[in-house]
Amino acid sequence: MTDRARPNTGAKLSLSDSVQFLPGVGPRRAELLAGVGIRTVADLIEYFPLRHEKQESRQIENLEEGMVATVVGRIAAVHTRFSRRGPTVSATLQDNTGRCMLSWFNAGWMAERLCKGMAVRATGRVGVYRELAQLTNPKLEELGADAGPVDESAPARFVAVYPATAELPSRALARLIGDNLPRLLPLVREWHAPDYLRERKLVGRRQAIAAMHRPTCDADLEQARRRIAYDELLLMQIAVMLARRNLRRGVESHVLTCTEEIDRRIRRRFPFALTAAQDRAIRSIVTDLARPRPMNRLLQGDVGCGKTVVALYAALVAVANQRQVAIMAPTELLAHQHFRSISAHLTGSRVRIALLTGRQKAGERRRMLEMIEAGELDIVVGTHALIQEGVRFAKLGLVVIDEQHRFGVRQRAMIRGKGPSPHYLVMTATPIPRTLAMTVFGDLDVTTIDALPPGRAPIVTRLVRPAEQGSAWDFVRARLALGEQAYVVYPLVDESDKLELRAATTELARLREQVLSRWEVGLLHGRMESTEREQVMGDFVAGRVQVLVATTVIEVGIDVPRATCMVIEHAERYGLSQLHQLRGRVGRGGSRGYCFLMTGFAAAEDNERLSVLVGTTDGFRIAEEDLRLRGPGEMLGTRQHGLPELRVADLARDGELLRMAQRDAEKLVREDATLRRPEHAPLREVLAARYESTIGFLGAG
Ligand code: ADP
Ligand code: MG
Repeated sequence: MTDRARPNTGAKLSLSDSVQFLPGVGPRRAELLAGVGIRTVADLIEYFPLRHEKQESRQIENLEEGMVATVVGRIAAVHTRFSRRGPTVSATLQDNTGRCMLSWFNAGWMAERLCKGMAVRATGRVGVYRELAQLTNPKLEELGADAGPVDESAPARFVAVYPATAELPSRALARLIGDNLPRLLPLVREWHAPDYLRERKLVGRRQAIAAMHRPTCDADLEQARRRIAYDELLLMQIAVMLARRNLRRGVESHVLTCTEEIDRRIRRRFPFALTAAQDRAIRSIVTDLARPRPMNRLLQGDVGCGKTVVALYAALVAVANQRQVAIMAPTELLAHQHFRSISAHLTGSRVRIALLTGRQKAGERRRMLEMIEAGELDIVVGTHALIQEGVRFAKLGLVVIDEQHRFGVRQRAMIRGKGPSPHYLVMTATPIPRTLAMTVFGDLDVTTIDALPPGRAPIVTRLVRPAEQGSAWDFVRARLALGEQAYVVYPLVDESDKLELRAATTELARLREQVLSRWEVGLLHGRMESTEREQVMGDFVAGRVQVLVATTVIEVGIDVPRATCMVIEHAERYGLSQLHQLRGRVGRGGSRGYCFLMTGFAAAEDNERLSVLVGTTDGFRIAEEDLRLRGPGEMLGTRQHGLPELRVADLARDGELLRMAQRDAEKLVREDATLRRPEHAPLREVLAARYESTIGFLGAG
């Protein structure tokens, strides 16, 4: 037999070897392990527990009713009783201090597992049966013959709970890892010098990995977690920074300058003075545009804070420099809206602006493409139609992407044409906490507009419990009677779920026939054809429909000035940021907006969570809270945004570690961008293994 086929006989193991080489792992096991992502030895030792269950052993005389406890002792007797409900197996367990009962209902096979004199550890909830403490259906672990009596002063035992599957239970993983860890730990290499670790109060990597699996105390576990989380964040930050360097290296763009004269001319276009926050954003953008390499800036800020105006400023700088601008919106509706509002600001100017969507007639589209290619249009507002085949800008200087929830570099890369790269400005209305922005948008500079234009009345938000719904509807009817409009949002988790859809339809009928029978009520849902959706939206914008019932999230950025009320049913099903975005749809036209969060029969913690919205309209505070409560994946609504997987680090609580990792990564990349120095070899190796498939950066240069 070859070495490969008999790997367990002492040949030297390495971290990159297949787990099949480990004792206790055959082909079937290896397949199951691969199913949870464990292929190599390194994968196995970095397969960390989700949590640890603490088992504090008790002496039997100290058991108290109601507690979950672990006792260690010997089986003194085993009985099986039969009743109509099935067999009950009972064992008497004895330690130095007394006896208790262990009972299993409907588990006849237990009788065979147990025998008199056996030493066991049993964990379960303590009850009382015939004046004796009794553990019902306890978890049982057989101990070796030499198991000693319980020492209550000994520290608690941590039982690792691993992410498991039915065929690969946590217990099996724990055994596999536990059995192999002592042999594998010496293979783990340290990534950092001792001084580096000391300065950052980080424990060694080997120690950390050991303690992640088998901590001896809480502090031990916390230190381990901190080290592993730091490593994850550091790797991620280095990867993001290298990718960003790579992206920018050698790419040139047009220098777009903004003179005082240009600035004056642009500002005259706005019927209001820009806010200090807008001015700050503009200063960063103007500085970026004046450089010969592409701007990559994210402009984030709450709905209605005036991002579009800032983007228009940037667009006009480009136009003043004889460059073209593409403004891309995620939907037709928003493209139309941008086109309308920008055109309004530009009335009477010589700026040539057009709208390009997928819906245009062939002839019209051809003419427009010709004009784009001939440089006869200055600003083109559009949807994804802008990045389709055949769109060739003669002298594209700036691309503005109003991408809302959509992240990623891919789209941005697509619009890049020949010649110098345009500058990029991405707008998002999702207030993203700084910690998250650093990670998600690592390749973008971030500018935040953190204040609303003056005179904007904050939205009034109320939590409405079932008994108070009547008066909330009274209020809405009163506003409708004044000629205002309302949204009613009815969440469907899954638009294809028939039951849910029926509930929504029933609700719609109730609104139409009873609650709001005097008004036109339109319906918008995700399964409608887009032409139909636009028809309904159009009716609402024009005021032909006064109430819009939406089962799907109403597009971010929709601006209907007369809409003042929003009723959100089952508000507890949404995240806070999502609710905040939703309510931003009302009260945009100068009159105050009202938002009613209807909560069904929500749990107390739901009500507490939702009350954050009643207390503040600060999108960032809300986002921070959301991040704390629900984690980044949830908050962004998708796992598709290219966030590298963080297994141990938690962006919501590890903000400080993240900042440290970011500083360290910056320094490292500045000093040794290709990680050629010998001391960076371990880092280079893991980075190459984990990230090179997505970003090739370490190879060249
Ligand atoms: P956003 O795109 O961030 O949601 P907009 O740029 O659409 O915000 O601005 C929201 C509304 O506020 C628009 O009607 C806009 O004309 C108005 N607005 C923008 N900036 C100012 C300002 N500095 N002063 C007063 N109103 C403003
Ligand atoms: Mg907007």
